[in-house]
Amino acid sequence: MTKAWSVLPDEWKPLLKERGLRPFRADQILQSLYRDYISDWNDATTLPKDLRATLAEEFPITRYEILDVSESSDGTKKLLVAFADGEAVETVLIPAAGRFTQCLSTQVGCGMGCAFCASGSRGVVRSLSADEIVAEYMAARSFGEITNIVVMGMGEPFANYDETMRALKLINAGRGPNLGARHITISTCGVVPGFAKLAAEGIQFELSVSLHAPNDKLRSELMPVNRRWPIDELIAACADYTRQTKRIITFEYTVIAGVNDSRACAEELAALVKRVPMAKVNLIPLSPVEHRPDFKTPDERTMLMFLDVLMKNRVQTMLRRSRGKDADAACGQLRLRRLGKKD
Ligand code: SAH
Repeated sequence: MTKAWSVLPDEWKPLLKERGLRPFRADQILQSLYRDYISDWNDATTLPKDLRATLAEEFPITRYEILDVSESSDGTKKLLVAFADGEAVETVLIPAAGRFTQCLSTQVGCGMGCAFCASGSRGVVRSLSADEIVAEYMAARSFGEITNIVVMGMGEPFANYDETMRALKLINAGRGPNLGARHITISTCGVVPGFAKLAAEGIQFELSVSLHAPNDKLRSELMPVNRRWPIDELIAACADYTRQTKRIITFEYTVIAGVNDSRACAEELAALVKRVPMAKVNLIPLSPVEHRPDFKTPDERTMLMFLDVLMKNRVQTMLRRSRGKDADAACGQLRLRRLGKKD
C-alpha cells in the first residue's frame, strides 16, 4: 500500500505496471489528483469504477481533518490539521500583497529544544510522512491558492529530511501542484548533514538558516543543536552550499532583548555572515512565548541599531515583522494545545 500523495508524478507509470494496472491511466490519475484536487477516489469520475476501487485500496488518499481555524486581526489564519492517528500539527496561512504564503509543519512538536521556541518546548511526538505534509498543503489550498511555502512551522525539516523532501518535490512537480521551487523556502536550525544533501538535489529551493547567536557560547545556550554542530561547522556547510549551488542563504536572527541584541553581537554576526559567499540576514523581533516570560521583545531602537551595524558592514539585511501574533500564530508560537487538556 502506497499513499497517493507520496507518489511523484513520474513514479505513477512504473507503480501501476508493477501492480498489473494499465500505465496509460497515469495521466488521468494525475489530472484527478492535481487538477481536480480530489480527496476521494470516488470523485475521480474520468476513471472506471473498478479502477477507482483498486486505487482506493492500493493508493489510498490520506485522510485529514481541519479541527480548528483561528484568525488573527492581520488576516493570518492558523489551522489545526489532524491525521489518522489523532496527532495534529498547526499550519499558518499568511496573506500579503499578491501572495498567499503557507507556513508548513514537518513534525508533531520538535526535538531541537531551542529555548525561545514554543514548538520545541515539549519535545517531538513524531515526524510527518510525505503524504501527511502534502495533506497539510491540501488543507491550506481550500482557503485559496498557495503562492509560497515556508517550511517554518513545527519541526526541524532536516531531522525529517526524506519525507519533507518528497513532499516538497511533489508540491513542486510540474504535473503535480506545480508550485515553483523558488517559492518554497526550507528553514533549518543547523542540522549540518542536510546542507550537502539539499545541494545534491539540484532543485532551486530557497534555504534559510536559523542562527540567532553569533558565537558558540551563546548559541549553545539558546540552541542545543549547536553543541552537536557548532558555528564553525555550520558556517563551513553554508559556504559549501552557496559555492556548490550558487544560491543565496538567508540567516534568520531572532533578536531577544538583553540576550543577543548588543552592538558586539551585531559586529560578531556581520563577521560570521561574511564568511559565506552569498548570504543575507533577516532580523526578527522575538515573539513572546509563554514558557519563557524572561525572554522579551526588543524595542524598535535596538532593532534599528542592529540593522545599522550590519548595513555598515555591508551585510544585506532585512527587518521582518511578525505576523499572526494575536492568534498565537507568530514565529515560534506554534504549539499544540491538546484538546481537552490544559497546558
Ligand atoms: N526548525 C526550523 C524551522 C522552524 S522555526 C528552524 O529552526 O529553522 C522557524 C523560525 O522561527 C526559526 O528561525 C526559529 O528560530 C524562529 N523562531 C522560533 N521561536 C521564535 C520566537 N519566539 N520568536 C521569533 N522567532 C522564533
